[in-house]
Amino acid sequence: MNYIVFDLEWNQCPYGKCREEARLPFEIIEIGAVKLNKNREYVEEFHRIIKPAVYKKLHYRTKEVINLDDEALAHGIGFREAVREFLTFCGPEAVFCTWGNIDLLELQRNMKYYGVLKLLKGPLHFCDVQKLFSISFEDGRSRKSLEYGIDFLQLEKDQKFHSALADARYTARIFMRIEDQIIRDFDSIDCYQNPKSKKEEIHAVYKGYSKFISREFPSKEEAMHDREVSSTHCNVCGKTARKKLRWFSSNSKNYYCLAICPQHGMLRGKTRIKKTDEGKVFAIKTIRQVSDEEAAEIRQKKEAMKKKRKMKR
Ligand SMILES: [Zn+2]
Repeated sequence: MNYIVFDLEWNQCPYGKCREEARLPFEIIEIGAVKLNKNREYVEEFHRIIKPAVYKKLHYRTKEVINLDDEALAHGIGFREAVREFLTFCGPEAVFCTWGNIDLLELQRNMKYYGVLKLLKGPLHFCDVQKLFSISFEDGRSRKSLEYGIDFLQLEKDQKFHSALADARYTARIFMRIEDQIIRDFDSIDCYQNPKSKKEEIHAVYKGYSKFISREFPSKEEAMHDREVSSTHCNVCGKTARKKLRWFSSNSKNYYCLAICPQHGMLRGKTRIKKTDEGKVFAIKTIRQVSDEEAAEIRQKKEAMKKKRKMKR
């Protein structure tokens, strides 16, 4: 098994959102990657520039941040070819590592646009180095920039940021500083290719919380009526925890509830409703232990929602 630490640069429609290709809001123009072995030792690197085919002109903001000019891009190769070569470089047992969770999503969205998504089967377990950095060195919730991480760890800053290979190298340097145990305890799951059937649904237990990823439903109401989605099992012992506060929505995407495990106390359920490209929905539910104060906050949130609804009437 190898770790593939990668970074992408992408372009967007230079003429604004109204003229963008809806299936490809961000077109990948550069892939950079560093391969590390299972002991996180350097093996080799990968770098390709991709000739833009959808947005041939660079968006002014892309131009500002990336280190590629029109001439370099004109000499790039096609996306299909680049991604095939990238996956060959990765090998069959790759664990992807990225700074944040967006690069893996955009890689798959570009692959889908070009009809080659079947080359990379999801859902994908990966290492979100930005999250691992926060868990290791900060509060676990903050999400800092790559440059902040490099400065914080006082690692060498010998290349310009926002070039795919440089950023992959920087991410790899930070990844090498994370403890084994933290990598084992906090993997991430990318659900761009979400579970389609009951059998594919994901149940994962982490240190401090559990996660469930449902199959697809036609609407969020139907998702929230599903027995498995609405259930509350204690993340520590797995037993059914009795609800103290039923699921309520705080906005159009998030639902919360409170439940109690006789052995492990108050638990908070949070369900995020995600839309697929095809307009269906699926649910990502997390359950974790909360303090009395946190539980009170959830209750207040519900009261605030009730008041808001009354005002609207
Ligand atoms: Zn319990």
